[in-house]
Amino acid sequence: MLDRLQAQAPDALLALIKMHAQDPREDKIDLGVGVYRTNEGATPVFRSIKKAEQKLIDEQDSKSYLGPEGDTGFTAALMPYIFGEDATMGGRIEGMQTPGGTGAVRLAVALAKAAGVTRVHMGVPSWPNHAQILADVGVETVPFTHAKSDGTADLEAVLAAIHGAGPNDAVLLHGCCHNPTGVDYTLDQWEAIAAAFAETGVLPLLDIAYHGLGQGLDEDVAGIRKVLAAVPEALIAYSCDKNFGLYRDRVGAFYMMAKEASQLPAIVSNANALARANWSMPPDHGGAAVRNVLRDPAMTKEWLEELDDMRARMRRVRARLAAADNEAPGLNLAALGDQNGLFAMLPLDKDQIARLREDHGIYMAGSGRINVAGLHAGNTEKFIAALADVTKG
Ligand code: PMP
Repeated sequence: MLDRLQAQAPDALLALIKMHAQDPREDKIDLGVGVYRTNEGATPVFRSIKKAEQKLIDEQDSKSYLGPEGDTGFTAALMPYIFGEDATMGGRIEGMQTPGGTGAVRLAVALAKAAGVTRVHMGVPSWPNHAQILADVGVETVPFTHAKSDGTADLEAVLAAIHGAGPNDAVLLHGCCHNPTGVDYTLDQWEAIAAAFAETGVLPLLDIAYHGLGQGLDEDVAGIRKVLAAVPEALIAYSCDKNFGLYRDRVGAFYMMAKEASQLPAIVSNANALARANWSMPPDHGGAAVRNVLRDPAMTKEWLEELDDMRARMRRVRARLAAADNEAPGLNLAALGDQNGLFAMLPLDKDQIARLREDHGIYMAGSGRINVAGLHAGNTEKFIAALADVTKG
């Protein structure tokens, strides 16, 4: 029976990690893996999280089961940061904890399907797992162009997708810090997107995986708040794995916004049933640590400072790359200064990417995606010089 299974292509990024690990050059640079790195190239546990974990060890008195909704204190504590002052929009939003943002995206798609959605429009390129999840849940992906070649978002394409959507269609958008392009919609563009959703009644699926890593906690969700203020209902997937540095602890949340508060219990009960069949309940530890951080003013302050430092560092790297626009013509590095988050796409061909790896020890995805956080004071100049080398005529 099991010999019927065909071997699957190995994950390209994992293969890249292996190659990087085997490269003996001291000054090699890893721009592949999608995690934040400090100026020293490390991905440490947040100080605020360490304190919150210590508090958990000292005070947690049971590890008995929670329900499929997980730690509701965690999902509630996050809500003001995502949705603002009226965090439940008049009792119309409820959340549940999920295994990472991945679990939240899966639940959003599965719940949309249960409600009758058969197709999801999605800007491409996107996080590769979006298409995999849609296919696995059994929903058709309808692609549209996310970014234009000048490094800005293709507003016409997303508006055409929303206006062209059928009655059983949803549209999936990244809330901020688009993966893999770094290209976000401007606030004016979000305004137009919100109006298109409101006009058509198409269901928005909003995926927020890098909240606070772009321009600021409020700034990064200003766009999705415009959508939520304009539409009757929406599904929101959220990850704490980047902005609390919890990656392997798998910390996410899924929020449902209903037309009316009275409809929420039925919607939530469906999400609970789907979660039960998928993973029963989410892992507790990381969500409980985030709850501890957000309920303690001193820990919250420390978390906000840590997030500010990360964001400021990535903005510095982006500014340096943007200033190097003339040094590597044709790559439009200037656009990186206005883009957000961990990622950017460089229009390098396969040969140039191979030369960066072989001649310079610089590792990046075959798509040309770089993790901006892989650069720091000690290696950015080398990277710029290598780009100049592989792009010179
Ligand atoms: N959405 C997007 C756009 C992502 O890039 C990612 C992961 N990097 C996720 C969701 C899932 O994040 P998590 O690691 O929390 O599952």
